[in-house]
Amino acid sequence: MASQEIETLTSVLSRLPGLGPRSARRAVLWLIKRRESSLVQLLDALAAVRETLVECQTCGNVDTSDPCAICVDPRRDQRSLCVVEDVADLWALDRARLFTGRYHVLGGRLSALDGVRPEDLTIGRLIDRVAQGGIDEVVLAMNATLEGQTTAHYIAERLEAYPVRLTQLAHGLPVGGELDYLDEGTLAQALRARRPVG
Ligand SMILES: [Zn+2]
Repeated sequence: MASQEIETLTSVLSRLPGLGPRSARRAVLWLIKRRESSLVQLLDALAAVRETLVECQTCGNVDTSDPCAICVDPRRDQRSLCVVEDVADLWALDRARLFTGRYHVLGGRLSALDGVRPEDLTIGRLIDRVAQGGIDEVVLAMNATLEGQTTAHYIAERLEAYPVRLTQLAHGLPVGGELDYLDEGTLAQALRARRPVG
């Protein structure tokens, strides 16, 4: 029987994406054996994240400042906005270094199955940003999944009334492909070959 402390930590860790109870327990034991090195480092890193990281109220990125470094970077093209599902997608696209505009993180995707409605995402905030003007192109960079594409269609409809060019990533994206898992070459190709919506 493991102690209550180990059970608690294991159950918290097992909720992390990609970790189940078994690997969570292995991680806990690994950390206990490295109390002074890895465990202390992990605690410090977690504390730093809690104290310094905030969500950008403009785009939804996670950074040490609000607005984030991308939103305030004067070298970035203010006329181009790339809409992504999650922060991980923003980071994946930005690692590819091809998109020079700014981003908008939806915070998920529409899903009838999971009960995710438009008001659960930052779609209202996106419409507000576009309605303020100054944006020429909106790139819908949803995942190539059914829910991602449904979300893209919904946003395209909502943005129809505004004078912006709507584009989406080219279908070099593997079907069912999630941006975060793509290599940078594939992602760069999909972004370069983006096409008008509709
Ligand atoms: Zn931002």
